[in-house]
Amino acid sequence: MAFERCSTCGKPRVYLASYNGRAFCENHFLEFVLKKVKKNLQKHELIRPGDRVSTTDPTLSDVLARVTKEWPIKLTKTNPNKLAEPLSLNQEIAMAIDALAKGEVLNTGFKQGKRIFPFRNLQTQELELYSKLRGIERDTDCSTTEKLVTELEKQMPSTLFSFQTSFERMAGLARPR
Ligand SMILES: [Zn+2]
Repeated sequence: MAFERCSTCGKPRVYLASYNGRAFCENHFLEFVLKKVKKNLQKHELIRPGDRVSTTDPTLSDVLARVTKEWPIKLTKTNPNKLAEPLSLNQEIAMAIDALAKGEVLNTGFKQGKRIFPFRNLQTQELELYSKLRGIERDTDCSTTEKLVTELEKQMPSTLFSFQTSFERMAGLARPR
């Protein structure tokens, strides 16, 4: 089957992105995660020259160190002006659904004040695979809603991206004028 092999180089596949049909070998999968985070950081201006960025998540710490290697910023625990949080797509959608259940609209986005969310368009399973391939131990606890959300994505690939767009629109409508 064509999907058994990396769409880019033909090496054995370690991951298939069901939402767009792309297959990845180990190297191209790792590169895919780094490229996506780099694009998020640049496109949404999550990090600027001179920033002091802190994170407590080992996977996010690994990714940021690789992506920002040559950038004039500092990854540090002391006096950070940016707090990078490892929120995944699945976690954000689960939080938005939990908020809806309480009659609230979650204010979503790549940044909120000092907090930045460079993983928010990556799926939990992608972050878990990245961590496994790099040998990073990661806390895999997830809420009931997140489990349901993950199952939904498995049954209906790309649903979570549609949810994210819809929740963004709702948050825009809910913002005070
Ligand atoms: Zn490849």
